[in-house]
Amino acid sequence: MARPILLAVDDDANVLEAVVQDLRREYGATYRIMRAPSGQIGLDTLAQLKARQEPVALLISDQRMPGMTGVEFLEQARELFPEARRVLLTAYADNEAAIRAINAARIHYYLNKPWDPPEEKLYPVLTDLLEDWQAGFQPAFEGLRVIGLRWALKDHRLRSFLSRNHVPYRWLDVASNEEALSLLAERNLDPSHLPVVLFTDGSLLVDPEPEELAARVGLSTRATADFYDIVVVGAGPAGLAAAVYGASEGLRTLVIEPVAPGGQAGSSSRIENYLGFPSGVTGADLGRRAHIQASRFGAEFLTQRAVGLRIDGQYRFVQLADGREVSSHVVLLAPGVQYRKLDLPGAERLTGRGVYYGAALVEAVACKDEDVYVVGGANSAGQAALHFARYARNVTMLLRGPGLSATMSKYLIDEISRTSNIQLQPLTQVLEAFGEERLEGLRLKGPEGEARVPATSLFVFIGAVPGTGWLPESILRDEHGFVLAGPDLRAEGKLPEVWREQREPFLLESSVPGVFVAGDVRHGSIKRVASAVGDGSIAVQFAHQYLAGF
Ligand SMILES: Cc1cc2nc3c(=O)[nH]c(=O)nc-3n(C[C@H](O)[C@H](O)[C@H](O)COP(=O)(O)OP(=O)(O)OC[C@H]3O[C@@H](n4cnc5c(N)ncnc54)[C@H](O)[C@@H]3O)c2cc1C
Repeated sequence: MARPILLAVDDDANVLEAVVQDLRREYGATYRIMRAPSGQIGLDTLAQLKARQEPVALLISDQRMPGMTGVEFLEQARELFPEARRVLLTAYADNEAAIRAINAARIHYYLNKPWDPPEEKLYPVLTDLLEDWQAGFQPAFEGLRVIGLRWALKDHRLRSFLSRNHVPYRWLDVASNEEALSLLAERNLDPSHLPVVLFTDGSLLVDPEPEELAARVGLSTRATADFYDIVVVGAGPAGLAAAVYGASEGLRTLVIEPVAPGGQAGSSSRIENYLGFPSGVTGADLGRRAHIQASRFGAEFLTQRAVGLRIDGQYRFVQLADGREVSSHVVLLAPGVQYRKLDLPGAERLTGRGVYYGAALVEAVACKDEDVYVVGGANSAGQAALHFARYARNVTMLLRGPGLSATMSKYLIDEISRTSNIQLQPLTQVLEAFGEERLEGLRLKGPEGEARVPATSLFVFIGAVPGTGWLPESILRDEHGFVLAGPDLRAEGKLPEVWREQREPFLLESSVPGVFVAGDVRHGSIKRVASAVGDGSIAVQFAHQYLAGF
């Protein structure tokens, strides 16, 4: 495969030469370095690369150029290579314009000239951006092939699992791809028994369980030890923060996660309000970075689901979906929340066949040129609408209330109003989803009465419920299932019945000593990435205090 391309654009020949030399020195072995002396020539070059299906990883352009500014170039280049990382080179005096451009042109970074020494001022930034790009890059025809049916829940789950674990794959839909049918025929496989995963070594799996697939793609499904200091259930922001702090402070740390590191944030298209990421960060990137960080400190990750918790004296046993158990002194519960389901005719039957819960980012490309509906008016729905608007012809947001201002952050409302293919439909509810094999339409009730509209995709964001049904009764919860911890146990008047210790429960400690809780699943938690990260890190401090008692 051709090496991915880094393209530098500048009208000043000396500066352009300097950029190209610096890029070549650091990245020449892995990437092809190209140059263009103006924005227009840069766009022409990109159009040719696009026609030849060559991958472009990074665009770095000077701001001040005659004819076309750097921002204008990067904005137009985004249409051709939306995934390429975009960097603007500016003089110090242009910083204001550069900051505005972060929003308008979706620039990932701006760098001040000169950038000497590049080891300090250029390479760390570019390497970071290129790692992000690599994580989402799927080289053509290499890696796994998944043969499935777009309108099948199993297929959707399998593709989501692979995407969220950054496993490159190519998807072949039997309904629209002849190659898919011939690949099945060559192997004497039944086209009604899908999905099928074809590996590069010629082996295959038919309709695999996540654990089976996880093991084949190199994810770990079995713990390497019987006993840990701390077992963390869930690798969302809360669990990942606990893993980073726990492992970096010397605790033997095991993290159990059935889907992929990143949690709900991993399915969110872009988190724009998390500290330190001025141009936003996708949840998947945040999850990937935290996973690498925790692993570097020695945390172990298992692709497994926790299905039970057993307490035996000072030992806590987390039971796994494959029947095994892992033991520890401390357990941190961070399983987050799951999306609330639509309770209306047709919704359950059509789940995964056009009705999706959460951002289901893996479906976005499949929605190209279609009309998409999003139910909900909170931030998560707004982010999803903006994401789908990049692919779909039209995105309609169905809102129960009169508008977005009471439920959504202002930066999202502004961006939605600037996006011409997103429409708001206030005071509207879905009454029914209909279709035989897949979603074909919706019955809606709005201010003008009832109407049936054709629809192929409906993405639902109507709140969430905690994933705590598998916990024993001794872990006390509120009436909605959120886990009570620390002072909330006493405030709810539950403590005297269950607590046998001489001390008060630590902050974030549940009704069972040594079992802590962090993130969205905790009663009274703030449903934000930063709060979940805060909870996860604080919980580790109390885990140390608890362990000091042994
Ligand atoms: C679409 C969307 C957009 C959002 N945008 C923003 C935003 O822009 N800014 C912001 O601050 N917040 C945002 N949020 C909220 C934010 O994502 C959550 O507050 C945060 O992810 C909570 O982190 P958590 O670790 O508590 O739980 P989660 O992120 O829910 O992670 C829990 C993890 O536990 C795993 N798990 C569940 N059950 C089990 C089990 N039995 N065994 C093992 N593992 C299990 C799950 O697979 C999951 O990976 C958004 C949420 C959504 C849905």
